[in-house]
This record gives sequence, structure tokens and C-alpha cells, in this order.
Amino acid sequence: MTPLYEGKAKRLWATEDPFTLRMEFKNDATAFNGEKKASFENKGRLNNAISNLIYGMLEKEGVPTHFVRQIDDTNVEVRKVTILMVEVIVRNIAAGSFCKRTGMAEGHEFSQPIIEFSYKSDELGDPLINDDYIREMKLATPEEMAHLRSAALKVNELLSAFFAKCGLRLVDFKLEFGRLLSDPSVIVLADEISPDGCRLWDLKTGERMDKDRFRRDLGNLMEAYEEVLGRVKQNLA
Ligand code: ADP
Ligand code: UDP
Repeated sequence: MTPLYEGKAKRLWATEDPFTLRMEFKNDATAFNGEKKASFENKGRLNNAISNLIYGMLEKEGVPTHFVRQIDDTNVEVRKVTILMVEVIVRNIAAGSFCKRTGMAEGHEFSQPIIEFSYKSDELGDPLINDDYIREMKLATPEEMAHLRSAALKVNELLSAFFAKCGLRLVDFKLEFGRLLSDPSVIVLADEISPDGCRLWDLKTGERMDKDRFRRDLGNLMEAYEEVLGRVKQNLA
């Protein structure tokens, strides 16, 4: 069998149902637009588990997602979508490319969340774009953009509160949305929510509990993800 798609961190497989996919989490990690690569035992299992628990929580709170059910350690069944080629980034605290772009010190707390958009294109390095670019590039309609903004802010409120219970600060994160194949007028949250695409800092120690450990060679990446999973499980119970 060949996957429908093989990405940097996941594979997508067809199922008997044309409206459903199997999404497999790999152990591969990449950073800096794929320039830095490595593989970590258990990464696929940890991200699958964390993401599925978070999607289950978001669904319960009324956020429509692609999540159907966890199949096994590294596989999840999801509703097939046409991914909007817009990555939605929400920032609560200055870090990463925001600091590079502005010179602002890491750790500055914003008065309100910042939402930014980037064009999902590995070739171009996911450049920053805005609503006007998105309209003219026909990546999403203005109505869909209004929906993405309100959905991203709602997810931010729910996730920030949940991670705070877990003793973690949600610094920033990336979301992807898609139009359901079964009904393209419906947009749902797709892809994954895991420490690969969220910055999470320990509330007490400030320790990085996310992919920055890999980006910055801080070590103990899987130990941090395991700790995040443990806290997520504990606080959902
Ligand atoms: P990348 O494509 O950036 O290398 P991944 O390795 O995570 O990233 O690949 C997963 C791919 O699957 C991404 O391109 C993502 O947009 C896409 N995807 C996520 N959820 C769905 C879904 N429900 N239906 C269709 N595609 C999806
Ligand atoms: N992010 C992501 N995928 C991307 C770009 C960003 O998951 O292609 C996440 C990243 O993990 C961080 C947030 O989005 O939690 C903001 O990332 P930033 O723009 O600061 O990018 P960096 O250059 O630090 O990856």
C-alpha cells in the first residue's frame, strides 16, 4: 500500500469510506522548514495521543474538528477535508519568528492575542500573508476568514485555560482548517494539536515543553512530550 500523501511528520491513508482518512503520526521531527531533521522513538505515539485528547476536549466544547476516533498508538481516523492553504498562528506571548521579525524580547505578554496567517507552501517557506493576499490568492473567502479568526480565538481561549490547568503556558500555536469533503460549506479544524505545533512553557520553571527543545538542541524532547501527555490525561479525567 502507498499512502495518499507523505508529509514531514505524518502520512495520510485512504480508507473504505471516501470521506474518511487514516492519519499516521511518524517519529520524524523537522524544523526550519525541513532543513533540520531527526527521528525520535515514540514521537508518533505521543503526538497522536496528545492531539486526540485535545481534539476530543475541543469537540466537547463545541469546536468542530476532523477527529473521528483513535485507531491505535500512531493512527487516527479523521474526516477528509480540503485543507485551506492558510496556516493560522495565534500568539499570546512573544517568541520565535515574531521576535525575529520585530526585535521584541521573547516572553513579552501581549495585551490581546495576535492572529497571523501564513501561506502553506514549503517551497516558499510559509511566508506571512494577510487577508488581502488571501482574498486575491483565492485561498479562502472573506466569510471563511471571519470564521477562521473567530474559531482560532475560541480555540485559544479553550486551550489556554486547559493548558493552564496542566501547569503550562500556551505561548503560541499553529492551526490548520479544511472544508469537509462531504460538505465543503463546513469548515473544521484539521491536522494536529501537539507540542510540535504549540509552544508550551512550564508555568513554574519556564522550561520549554515543546519542539523548541529540538529546534534549540535542549535535549530530552520525548521526556517533555511524555510529561505533557501525562498532564493532559490527568486534567481531562
Ligand atoms: P507537511 O505536509 O507540512 O509535511 P504533515 O507531515 O503533518 O505536514 O502532513 C500531514 C498533511 O495532512 C498536512 O499537509 C495537512 O495539511 C494534511 N491534513 C491534515 N488533516 C487532514 C484531513 N483531515 N484531511 C486532509 N488532509 C489533512
Ligand atoms: N508552527 C508550526 N508550523 C509551522 C510554523 C509554525 O507548527 O509551519 C508553530 C510553531 O511550533 C509555534 C507557532 O506556530 O508554536 C509560531 O511559530 P513561529 O512563527 O514563531 O515560527 P518558528 O520560526 O519559531 O517555527
